Order: sequence, then structure tokens, then C-alpha cells
Amino acid sequence: MSREQKAVEQARKAFLTGRSKPLEHRIRQLKNLQRLIAERQNEIAEALNKDLHRSEAGTQLYETLGLEGEINLVVKKLAEWAAPRPVEKNLMTMSDTVYIQPEPLGLVLIIGAWNYPWTITIQPLIGAIAAGNAAVVKPSELCVHTSKLMEDLLPLYIDKELYPVITGGVSETQELLRQRFDHVFYTGNSMVGKLVMEAAAKHLTPVTLELGGKSPCYIDKNCDIAIACRRIAWGKYSNCGQTCIAPDYILCEPSIQNRVLEEIKKSIKVFYTEEPKSCPDYGRIINQRHFKRIMAMIEDSTIAIGGENDESTCYIAPTVLKDVQASSKVMQEEIFGPLLPILTVSGLEEAISFINKGEKPLALYIFSPDEKVVKKVIAETSSGGVLANDCLVHFSVSALPFGGVGNSGMGSYHGKFSFDNLSHMRACLIKKLKMEGVNDMRYPPHTAKKLGWARFFILKNPDLWWIGRITLLAIVTVVAAVALQRYLQ
Ligand code: NAD
Repeated sequence: MSREQKAVEQARKAFLTGRSKPLEHRIRQLKNLQRLIAERQNEIAEALNKDLHRSEAGTQLYETLGLEGEINLVVKKLAEWAAPRPVEKNLMTMSDTVYIQPEPLGLVLIIGAWNYPWTITIQPLIGAIAAGNAAVVKPSELCVHTSKLMEDLLPLYIDKELYPVITGGVSETQELLRQRFDHVFYTGNSMVGKLVMEAAAKHLTPVTLELGGKSPCYIDKNCDIAIACRRIAWGKYSNCGQTCIAPDYILCEPSIQNRVLEEIKKSIKVFYTEEPKSCPDYGRIINQRHFKRIMAMIEDSTIAIGGENDESTCYIAPTVLKDVQASSKVMQEEIFGPLLPILTVSGLEEAISFINKGEKPLALYIFSPDEKVVKKVIAETSSGGVLANDCLVHFSVSALPFGGVGNSGMGSYHGKFSFDNLSHMRACLIKKLKMEGVNDMRYPPHTAKKLGWARFFILKNPDLWWIGRITLLAIVTVVAAVALQRYLQ
């Protein structure tokens, strides 16, 4: 039996004991995760520094703070989310108990990617624990130090049988995917996403696919270009462009291209100094394979800013490409690196039609002071999420679902959306063995009269809430009239 099979079998066995279900257990595990983050902050930062040249502040800002916030939210709201959810009644269910009971799905497989390894791997785990599931956690092998640290630390803080960590590469992930799970939660590229879905289909296992793609960014000529470019530069060059929701390319009118270049250049200098290579806040490309892939994209475009690079340290300077064509190499796939192409368009209409020619993106950015422009883009395009006048920060709003659509993924998570996504919403209808007369209309022999009653009960759907209100009002009026009469006697 393989290591992966053993872990899956053990986690399934642990789930079947029922110990993942009580809310106290879920909250205890989540608080232990929170303790891990607090006590092991230095080790987490050190590993991320080795993997991605991430600074200590960057580690907190982009990884652990969000997880702490998510755990706080879940601890506060779990009882409410996990409680039975009453639903509207109708004539047929008037005297019944009708509700939705969220229940754990069972065993979840979480396959993480490398770019924000703690966020991407642990945030779904928080959802899985909150929903009462067991989960096998598979961090990405590309962040070598972080995945080793997760393998070492998680079993010290949370139930290691319910939530085992499996490290390894493609063959280990494939071996995991051959096992039976109740949900697979995958984050990574769309090509592997298809393989994950295919493997899950063999067991009829539902999937959440958190994928990527080219996220467009439209700059309206009437906006404050300095502020827009500062926010875009931050969104693009954080983690060296290796962010699933980084603005992939800019669309703007030719008349503002030079202004945009000038402002992005200023922001790069303010954020990362004249020498980003020695700036602790500027990251590195994860490995040489990705370094070569990104550098090859520059070949047929004009570099306006940056372009410096060093293969031995996987360094690529913050780079902007100007007058880029739709047919250029950099526009053929998600960049996932610090290159920012600018494509000029004649205006909003052309920008929208350009966006709609591509796959549905994970994020779509619009910079404009005009609400009509923002609403038009929202109405005439589609994407996982849309953010006006800023970059990335919608990820941190736990009241919003985070996820893609079409080629950028399926399913969503964060806050209550994680809980719902990793729960089964069980339909519960509890009737009494009384009022048998009402059922007559459905029992054979079927007659026109019975059918008439069935039509009435099914199609006439009076608003019971209003009927209840009016009845209550009538009762209150009668009681008040009687009381008044007695008082006056
Ligand atoms: P990656 O190489 O780390 O792969 C992700 C996981 O898939 C790893 O655990 C790996 O072991 C596994 N894997 C790789 N090849 C496999 C195969 N052939 N069969 C089975 N499993 C396999 O990560 P990546 O794909 O380079 O990640 C970058 C991509 O992820 C980008 O497209 C990015 O936009 C996307 N992403 C999306 C989100 C999101 O939340 N939507 C977040 C981060 C990254």
C-alpha cells in the first residue's frame, strides 16, 4: 500500500469515528492552527524567504494575516453557519418542519500551488475543518522549504490522522487523485485542472478548481493616472508578478500610454528603489523553468521599463512592455511574472470587445472615476471577480466569494463560501403521521376532483407569511375590542 493510500485510508477511518463533527472539535483545531501561525511565524517567514525571496513583513501581509482573520471569522460565525437553516413553507408543508442542515462532505483533498503557499493551502483547510470534514493536504513541491515546514508543523498542532500532509510532486499527486475523496479542492494552472477533474470524475467526486488566466486591466483616460498606476504597480509586482489575480495586461487609449509608463516607473522606484535586485521587498521567480518561460515572452515586444534579469538568481526586474500587439508572445498565455504589457485601444467599446474575445478571466480591473463606465464593463463582460479602482484587495473581503468562471475555475471559497462549498446542504423535511386526509389527493385511484385539489395545493401558492400576519392582526384586533368592551362596562 502506498504512503498516499495509507494516509487516505487513515483519514477516512478517523472521519468515520465522527470526531471531526462536533463544533468544539472544529474550533479547537482552528485555534491550534492559529497558534501554529503565531508561534512559528519566524520559521514560516524563513522558509518563504528561501522559496520566493519573500520579506518577513511580506509574509505576514500576504499570507498569515489573512489566515488569522479567516480563523477569527470562522470561530465567531461557525455556530450560525452550521445551524439548521429554516426555509420558506407552502400549503403542502405548512405543518411540517422544513430546513437545510449543512453536513460535512467527508474526506477532502486539498492540492495547493506554490505562489502563496500558506494562503492557498491553509485557507481551504480552514474551510474543510470548519465544515467538519477530514482533509488530506498536498502542498506544492515547488516551494520546497515551505512544503517541508508544513509537513513538519501541521501534525504538531492539529489532528494528524484527520488532516495528514502529503508532500511530493506530480506522481504523488497523481497517486492521491487515484483515491476516492468526497471533494477535491485544487489550486493551480488550468491544464492540470483538467487532469484533476478527469481523475475526480472516475469517482463522481465534485471539484473546486481555483485556476488562473489573463486578468485584464482597463484604464480610463479620465481617471487619476498617478493613483491608478501606483495601485496597478503594487498589484502587478507583488510576489514578482506571481499572483493569480495580478493584472496581466493594461488596455488604454494611445493618448495616455506615455503617462501610464511614467507613473508606473515612478511607483516602481518608490516601492523597490532604483535597484530592485537588492530590495528585500522584491521577490524572485520560483525556478529556472519559469524564469526561461517568462523571458521567452519578451522576445517580440518593446521594453519600455526594466528588462534586466539574472538567470542564476531567477531575478527579473519589474518590466513594462509598450505598444504590445494581441499576437505577441506575451499575450498568448498567463504571464505569472513581472512583465506588464500595454495594449492600446480606441476606447471602452474596443476594450470590452478585446476582453470578451479571450477566456473568462479570474479578475477584471477597471480604473475610472465614472460609475457608468464601471457598470458598463460589469454588465458587458464576465470574470471570476471584478474590482474597480484597485488591485488584488477583493481577495481579502471574506464577504465576497473568491473563485473563477469558465477557464479561470469553478466553485468559490473564503469565509462562509468555504463553509458552504465544503458542506453538503442536506434537505430535511419532517412530517407528522397526522392529517392523512390531505394526502388523499395523491393516492390512487386518481380522479378529476383529486387532481383539482392537487392543482390548488401546488399551483396556488399564497404567501403564508402574509396570511400569518393578517391572521395575527385579526386576533389582536378582536382581543383589543373585547378588552375595551369590558373596560367600558
Ligand atoms: P504547481 O506547479 O504548484 O501545481 C499545483 C499542484 O498541482 C501541485 O501540488 C502539483 O503537485 C500538482 N500537479 C502539477 N502537475 C500535475 C499533474 N500533471 N498531475 C497532477 N498534479 C499535478 O502550481 P502552478 O500550476 O504552477 O500554479 C500557478 C497557476 O495557478 C497559475 O495559473 C495561477 O494563476 C494559478 N493560481 C490560481 C489561484 C486561485 O486562487 N485561483 C491561486 C494561485 C495560483
